[in-house]
Amino acid sequence: MESTVSANIARVRDTIAEAALRSGRKVSDVRLMAVTKTVDDERIMEAIEAGVDIIGESYVQEAKRKIEKMGKSVEWHMIGYLQSNKAKYAVRLFDMIHSVDRFDLAVEIDRRARAAGMVTSILIEVNISGEKTKSGIPYSEAMPLIRAVAPLEHLSIRGLMTMPPWFDDPEEARPYFVKLRALRDWVLEERIDHVEMRELSMGMSGDYQVAVEEGATIVRVGRHIFGERPLRGVR
Ligand SMILES: *Cc1c(COP(=O)(O)O)cnc(C)c1O
Repeated sequence: MESTVSANIARVRDTIAEAALRSGRKVSDVRLMAVTKTVDDERIMEAIEAGVDIIGESYVQEAKRKIEKMGKSVEWHMIGYLQSNKAKYAVRLFDMIHSVDRFDLAVEIDRRARAAGMVTSILIEVNISGEKTKSGIPYSEAMPLIRAVAPLEHLSIRGLMTMPPWFDDPEEARPYFVKLRALRDWVLEERIDHVEMRELSMGMSGDYQVAVEEGATIVRVGRHIFGERPLRGVR
């Protein structure tokens, strides 16, 4: 019997393909990340068996346990708020950190990556909406942050990430995705040394079709693959 997880993944992939087609994009330019915070190992294995090759985690401790158990046959990406004192673990565990939103964190990741003899791939997380509860660098400070981070030799800026406010209607998220893409284009025009802008990490269960239409290269989908998460207690 086909598992629910693999059936869900097939459905999400179809939706991505349709959105890519509608907007004249190549399906192969959009990668699906399975977001696995609170998801148990068995269902993560099902997702990997179904061909998902990026797993997104939000908490360093939880990710560490899972990565040690499941290994690095897939990419593991950090998408949650990262405390600077966890940077040391993050550089060893993750193939990409999507949530770099301040200079002191970038400096710490760079320092830890240097010590480990690595270059860590990062995205700059931008808070387009300006909501105070959201992480991410405010839009107006994103360009200065990118300029400041660019010279750090053990970091590689690969693109941008955002998380719009939550809406019932995914169309309401569209302007936020458009704005992130416009910021990407502006950064490219500035031709900053050592800055690549290949990745736009945007779109979640509620709005990833719209994000794909607006240029997402990585969509981060949790609930539409694994179902609703349990309400999180104190951790
Ligand atoms: C949890 C989470 C997601 C996935 O959200 P779903 O609504 O479950 O698809 C995506 N991005 C980030 C940063 C998250 O924390």
